[in-house]
Amino acid sequence: MKLLVVGSVAFDAIETPFGKTDKILGGAATYISIASSILNVKSGIVSVVGGDFPQSDLDMLTGRGVNIEGIEIIKEGKTFFWSGKYHNDLNSRDTLVTEVNVLENFDPKIPESMQDAEILLLGNLHPGVQLSVLEKMRNRPKLVILDTMNFWMDSALDILLQMIAKTDVISINDEEARQLSGEYSLVKAAQKIHAMGPKFVIIKKGEHGALLFHEGKVFAIPALPLEDVFDPTGAGDTFAGGFASYLAKKEDFSFETMKSALIVGSAMASFTVEKFGTQRLEEVTESEMIARIKSFKELTTFEVEV
Ligand code: AMP
Repeated sequence: MKLLVVGSVAFDAIETPFGKTDKILGGAATYISIASSILNVKSGIVSVVGGDFPQSDLDMLTGRGVNIEGIEIIKEGKTFFWSGKYHNDLNSRDTLVTEVNVLENFDPKIPESMQDAEILLLGNLHPGVQLSVLEKMRNRPKLVILDTMNFWMDSALDILLQMIAKTDVISINDEEARQLSGEYSLVKAAQKIHAMGPKFVIIKKGEHGALLFHEGKVFAIPALPLEDVFDPTGAGDTFAGGFASYLAKKEDFSFETMKSALIVGSAMASFTVEKFGTQRLEEVTESEMIARIKSFKELTTFEVEV
């Protein structure tokens, strides 16, 4: 197994200007592992769900080649539940409900089959839990990728900084980068975040694309202009999943390969937003994905004489 994913496996209820859902499948680890399966990369999830979590969703993951041995089922507990409502521009959202449930006392256990993972992708969770996973791995994975959010900067900054210090690649959005660094300029923000530990800093800018910083170099990509943006939930997780899986496939963690991984992650995320929840991502075929990566290339390639 190449990629170990730690993150929520959850129920979400989502409201966008285009409609709303009842409880549907969600969670960061879910989006990440579905993205991995599209690239035929073997991933394994470490997470926890309650007795209310449907076997059919676990079967869907297994059917895609995802190792779910590390998803603990607490029969008497309830699965993490999150509900959010998007504003008209779809760039911002309000969290309506967070029921932490079984994630409250989550004590991650890493199955033997996942101990040799080359890449560890730590999805958005309490930084103390993220740190404990790293400590429980027999050998440090070759690459540690961290996703986090402003909520942990507000509530658990000390431990988050300890986690960031042990991270190779951090993936956060522009507002979070500003909050973490205290800098408005994203270039200065990335420099400060580098100094906290990570050699690679990814700053996501929603519909405006993403930036990758490494040793004074920067690479920028736009987001694909889409006709239909329906529900942005999970876009960041899908991006991280596509990014990490591409690196796992190439077995190379250089800046050059990370540039391509950024494109793959963005192409993958562009599917997620087209329907509610994981629905669209679950339908994506390899050829569709390749076509979308080609569109990205056309969008960003040009010649100019000066
Ligand atoms: P994103 O849209 O990329 O921020 O990710 C959305 C996913 O994150 C949803 O499927 C939620 O179930 C999950 N999520 C939301 N809040 C949390 C949290 N506090 N801890 C873990 N997962 C969360």
